[in-house]
Amino acid sequence: MLFILSGSSGVGKSTLCKRIMTSIPDVQLSVSYTTRPIRDGETHGIEYWFVDQSEFRRMIEQDAFLEWAEVYENFYGTPRQELVTRIDQGIDVILDVDVQGARNVMKNMPDAVSVFLLPPSLEVLKARLESRGTDKSDVVDRRFQKAQAEMAHYVEYDYTIRNGCLDQAIKEFESIIVAEHVRTKRLDHAWMSRHGLARQESNPVSSRTERERNVIS
Ligand code: 5GP
Repeated sequence: MLFILSGSSGVGKSTLCKRIMTSIPDVQLSVSYTTRPIRDGETHGIEYWFVDQSEFRRMIEQDAFLEWAEVYENFYGTPRQELVTRIDQGIDVILDVDVQGARNVMKNMPDAVSVFLLPPSLEVLKARLESRGTDKSDVVDRRFQKAQAEMAHYVEYDYTIRNGCLDQAIKEFESIIVAEHVRTKRLDHAWMSRHGLARQESNPVSSRTERERNVIS
């Protein structure tokens, strides 16, 4: 399954994802490509694949991205092949993408589940962006402006989590993942029929993994 996670920078998406990956097996975060400069503490291939603009453009031409967008004057893109491989392995993938990226994925992959992460308040968000100390003050100001504009789009998402208390936010995200897995519409009816749990004629669609793989590739 694909989970789309959006929320402005500083809202705690990376921390949330790291904790979810340790608490739920078979959930992984898609590692995007970006042209933004690497920050202190980041590692190539862990937070992002850091590439220059010409490499990024070459990848666009090769149709290597499921979606890509320009965010804060840098390019960010979700690699397609990596997703195909993980979907084939039955792994749940979280895409940390901005609102434009989320819209593109929602349009092309209606089975994806979208989650918007809100800060507890604007004051807390501003303080978090400033305390990170990894960006210059004009960058922080721009990110704060963009954050406010982006937050208005939470209504386009399936779920909204307010990240006031991290443990509570984790519990809510975990619940979403667990509940989405047992949705009747997501059952693998072919598997059910083979095991005598469903009648052959109630199997109008191919398996979920097959459907998702076809859309991505
Ligand atoms: P940051 O530079 O703070 O890591 O991320 C800035 C913004 O880029 C965040 O809102 C994040 O969700 C978004 N982003 C990261 N990777 C991707 C991607 O592959 N595609 C899109 N559309 N946005 C991304």
